[in-house]
Amino acid sequence: MVRRRSNKVHSVAPRAPSRDNPFDIYFHLQRVAVDDALREGPSERAIAALLDKAFDFADQLVQRWSAQAPVACSKGCSICCHVAVPTSMPELFSMIAGQRDALADSAMQRLSVALGDAVTRATGLSNRDRYRDRIPCALLDESGACSVYPDRPVACRTWLSSRVSECRSAFEARDPDRAVRMNSGVVAASNGIAFGLWTGLNEHGLDGRPIKLMDGALAVLGDTALLQRWCKSARMPDAIVDQEVLAGLRLVDHGTLAESVAFARSLR
Ligand code: SF4
Repeated sequence: MVRRRSNKVHSVAPRAPSRDNPFDIYFHLQRVAVDDALREGPSERAIAALLDKAFDFADQLVQRWSAQAPVACSKGCSICCHVAVPTSMPELFSMIAGQRDALADSAMQRLSVALGDAVTRATGLSNRDRYRDRIPCALLDESGACSVYPDRPVACRTWLSSRVSECRSAFEARDPDRAVRMNSGVVAASNGIAFGLWTGLNEHGLDGRPIKLMDGALAVLGDTALLQRWCKSARMPDAIVDQEVLAGLRLVDHGTLAESVAFARSLR
């Protein structure tokens, strides 16, 4: 399995759903977790519950990966933090709430400025061009570590490498097409979590479209009423949606996704 460097999501070849396929297994698990969490409707508590599951699943994958191959990722290596990260509104609400609890007003102000600068730099760029321009995630701290590590999105949790040399080679060449070898099962399962989350939210009438990490974080930071509106099924601003990932889902996975939803339901 190989992955490209333009964003932290992987295309999935159309195929029939299967109980042996890691995508289907984790898609199903995450869909059920969304249903369970949203049984009494959307709320901050429901968001925390569904993310607990998503992060647990992601951490399971990391453990599985670690048992099969050495993980070369380490604190201070921020190469993959120059890749566009598709995330979701619950992940962003949780992340920004954590920052509000942890940071003083002045630090929140600095974060807002950093996010705004990065979003401005990336505006109008495709995810591939963004990678070529090496726009770092505004959530990196001065030492190159993730400042939201406990609350980082699923995509960041499962974006692992066993060969830093491959990551560095692509980064230095500014080449989003340079492949990095991956564990195919972990990639498929990671996609299953993401797709399960997006699909589950959509099926509950919430805006579950993939959201650009920095654009979404900036929007949540600047609008304290956004959470309430999202909970009432408001559509989020199109400008924060990762249209490339959304288009990819529709083009590549529409059939697979529909089949997987039916499959997930059949397992209950
Ligand atoms: S959220 Fe953290 S891990 Fe993810 S891209 Fe940003 S700095 Fe990197």
